[in-house]
Amino acid sequence: MQNKNSEIIVIGSGIAGLSFAINIAKRIPDCTINVITKSEVALSNSNFAQGGIAVVTNLVKDSYEAHIQDTLASGGGLSKPSIVKLVVETAYDRLKELVEYGVEFNHTPNGEFDLALEGGHSQHRVVHAFDNTGEHVVKSLILKAKSIPNIQFFENRFCIDLLKNTEGAVKGTSVLNLQTKEIEIYKAKLVILASGGSGQVYKHTTNPDVATGDGVAMGMKLGALVANLNFIQFHPTALYEENKPRLDLLTEAIRGFGAYIRNKEGKRFVFDYDPRGELATRDIVSKAIFSELRKSGDACVYLDCKHLNTKDFNEKFPQTTKNLHSKNIDITKDLIPIVPAAHYQCGGLKVDEVGQTTVKGLFAIGECAETGLHGVNRLASNSLLEGLVFAHESAEYIAKHYSDYSNASTVEIPNYQLEESNDAQFIKEINQLRNTMTKFATISSSLEDLDTAIEALNDINKQVELLNNDNQISEQRLIFNNLLVNALAITKFKRLHFLNTNKNHTFEKH
Ligand SMILES: Cc1cc2nc3c(=O)[nH]c(=O)nc-3n(C[C@H](O)[C@H](O)[C@H](O)COP(=O)(O)OP(=O)(O)OC[C@H]3O[C@@H](n4cnc5c(N)ncnc54)[C@H](O)[C@@H]3O)c2cc1C
Repeated sequence: MQNKNSEIIVIGSGIAGLSFAINIAKRIPDCTINVITKSEVALSNSNFAQGGIAVVTNLVKDSYEAHIQDTLASGGGLSKPSIVKLVVETAYDRLKELVEYGVEFNHTPNGEFDLALEGGHSQHRVVHAFDNTGEHVVKSLILKAKSIPNIQFFENRFCIDLLKNTEGAVKGTSVLNLQTKEIEIYKAKLVILASGGSGQVYKHTTNPDVATGDGVAMGMKLGALVANLNFIQFHPTALYEENKPRLDLLTEAIRGFGAYIRNKEGKRFVFDYDPRGELATRDIVSKAIFSELRKSGDACVYLDCKHLNTKDFNEKFPQTTKNLHSKNIDITKDLIPIVPAAHYQCGGLKVDEVGQTTVKGLFAIGECAETGLHGVNRLASNSLLEGLVFAHESAEYIAKHYSDYSNASTVEIPNYQLEESNDAQFIKEINQLRNTMTKFATISSSLEDLDTAIEALNDINKQVELLNNDNQISEQRLIFNNLLVNALAITKFKRLHFLNTNKNHTFEKH
């Protein structure tokens, strides 16, 4: 029988949560750690990461300064230089830990890390394990964490609320057990949110269905500061499939390899938006596609690989080839349907350099946190790295100050009532919300669009209010509530950004 009370609670089992649990167990060996996760332990954005982790591994060919400058340039003036320096300069130590845990990165024949060059990087510096780096990393971290007796995993548990004690410090979480459909209460000295991003706010996303912005929603409910939520990174070439909750990514390297983007009429329209055409940056290509789709009313545009050398293509992109083949898409004859998809949330709960949010006893690490690293735009392969670095920094800080955290005493628990009866209505409103965001709250949306989005989201909320009883709980109601909080926050931040360009936006409640 697993004990629901522990000394530390970690919410989420992606790269950030798993690394933190391992790190803190190393520093405080007798500390009990409960990792609570919404699905199976391996299901997370981390598991889907393909490209790799940006690390300066060769100080002759590359330099910290170059990685710092690339990150700052990508962040468009909104990254925090001290945080960028911290992340870049400690990256190699974090990489060595992964190797120690058994992650097998690709190496060159002479034994050096095989370094990929990715968009926005001035040097080859992305370490990778084939083209499914995340899967390799998560697998090793799970094995390592499961070998530590003090770490317990609680799977298929949906954290509902963060629970405070009478002094206002976070000391636990309420959970909907998705298997037994019971409410459970977990208490601890402190809580680490590692709950990932919010891609599911949009109809088209590369994120799995667990990415519904729960951490941001739970934090905001307690009044935690959030920042830069407007900066959602879109990936321009997700493989379009109608009504698929998570779209497959078609790596940008395919455009680098010479693929064209065409509309239904066959026109290479990206040149109308940027002289670099398909080789323009991620955001520009995404914007061009959004505008084109808006004008035409079509569901997707197309990636054309018909003119490319098929043998070279198959060799260079084996996973993509396999995937397209399984969907009966023949690149020598067929056009590949694509759409831009929500890929990464650059903002999140505002934290300091050790991951502390503005709420007592609550830390946030990984994609749910806004550390100051990414600014307006995450540099490719900097996010797995951010998760690793802040897991380490938080664990080090907590271990040093461990005696300051009091035991969990009494927490205030809402009077929840379970319901299932309104599921169909919630699913309908969730779809409506995701459609609204994809239509009116992307990187190409105007002020008018954003106003339309806010109005539509408020209307959706009114429909749901008719069903409302604040303390009623079901999985679909929780998903809806969290998506709505995130959707409204993203849209309002976007609106503010329009009115007040190039400032960091931080505010408490919406
Ligand atoms: C297709 C794809 C490719 C990518 N490629 C790269 C890449 O090459 N390099 C790179 O650096 N980044 C990449 N990224 C981004 C990167 O994967 C993520 O930013 C990173 O993995 C986030 O890690 P995390 O630990 O913060 O969150 P996640 O890995 O998303 O983990 C979040 C965890 O929290 C759990 N959770 C959420 N809500 C709750 C709740 N209410 N209760 C309990 N548990 C909850 C989830 O189930 C999950 O276990 C990619 C992302 C995608 C989607």
